[in-house]
Amino acid sequence: MADTNVTDKVSPILDVDKIRQDFPVLSKTIHGKPLIYLDNGATTQKPWAVINRVKEFDSDEYGTVRRGAYKLCEDSTKYYEETRQKVADLLGTPNKNEIVFTSGTTQSINLVAHSFSRRFINEGDEIIISNIEHHANTVPWQIVCQERGAKLKVIPVSDSGELIMEEYEKLLSDKTRIVAVNHVSNALGTVNPVREITEKAHAIGAKVLIDGAQSTPHLKLNVKELDCDFYTFSGHKMYGPSGIGGLYGRMELLEEMPPYVTGGDMIMQVTLEKTTYAKPPAKFEAGTPPISQVVGLGAAIDYITNIGLDKIFDYELELLEYGTEVLKQVPGLRIIGNAKDKASIISFYHDSVHPHDIVTLMDQEGIELRGGHHCAQPTMIRFGVPATARASMSFYNKKEELDALAEAMKKAVKMFEG
Ligand code: PLP
Repeated sequence: MADTNVTDKVSPILDVDKIRQDFPVLSKTIHGKPLIYLDNGATTQKPWAVINRVKEFDSDEYGTVRRGAYKLCEDSTKYYEETRQKVADLLGTPNKNEIVFTSGTTQSINLVAHSFSRRFINEGDEIIISNIEHHANTVPWQIVCQERGAKLKVIPVSDSGELIMEEYEKLLSDKTRIVAVNHVSNALGTVNPVREITEKAHAIGAKVLIDGAQSTPHLKLNVKELDCDFYTFSGHKMYGPSGIGGLYGRMELLEEMPPYVTGGDMIMQVTLEKTTYAKPPAKFEAGTPPISQVVGLGAAIDYITNIGLDKIFDYELELLEYGTEVLKQVPGLRIIGNAKDKASIISFYHDSVHPHDIVTLMDQEGIELRGGHHCAQPTMIRFGVPATARASMSFYNKKEELDALAEAMKKAVKMFEG
């Protein structure tokens, strides 16, 4: 059981009070109560370092990228490419040209699904996803299957929210072309064994895409050690701006895959008869990109790497364990997703209070949670619930905030049960 002694709530891992001062929104009140922001799985708040860097860039340095030989353009292009290098370092690839900027995970998965499939997926081929994917890693593959005559297979999940690896192995065959799974489930918090998933897929010649939307803000990553073929991320879930994210892709594959979005900047030469394409990553970055957002993403990566992803992971694990214990003390509350390996996400359900009511009542207490299907309806169906309430923690959250959530939940249950 969690100790409620306040002195034990101060973690030796991070100076959270100091970190909180970096995030202006965290000192706000909501409905007259101090804001407790626990919807980090949906989107994270921004530190001054990101806000100020974007403001400075937009005020003094803004220009287009890649097109002109004048100072503002040269500088903007330099910052843009510097961020690409920061992403490459964060994800652990030595080749920054394996990083493609996109608007985020959704676009990254669509890019791979549609481009990879045009080159590599034919009638009768198979694609594997899991039962705990975000719709962004489900719908594009369903469409690819319809268009290419391929078959979608699904890795089942145990009652605790873990992928059943023996079943996964049975799904793999010489028809499997790609396995697409998340690293961390946004609906349950499960950390999937992606290294093992990749190894088994590669053993039969299939490629692997990992949806990293929920892992990049929490885990130290190395795509080369994971040995995956594609890895995706979203800037707004890692303290950066919205509208920017990206894709790591193994260079041999990026070179072979056809362009997805076409137009300016992705070409080598255009005549009215024929177009030749630029090399990756430009081949996949048609049009003027979100330049300020890329610069802001660079500042966000600097910010989290300065804190250290090892420390972030350890502290958030402390929060996860603490939050799990205090929420378990709410009468009738069920945690959905109890995998052995979890990131700092707690999904829960109560028979007497619908998740949407939970969210409304918590909001009255200044506590911002997510309630719904979390864009993972097949996961909700698997666990027999219409929706869940979800607390997703960041390194700027405190154990006292989880106490407040548990207390507010007890109050809500009392109110509904009379
Ligand atoms: N995949 C997972 C696991 C997610 O949690 C999300 C967003 O919540 C997405 C994909 C989609 O990300 P975005 O909306 O940033 O494209």
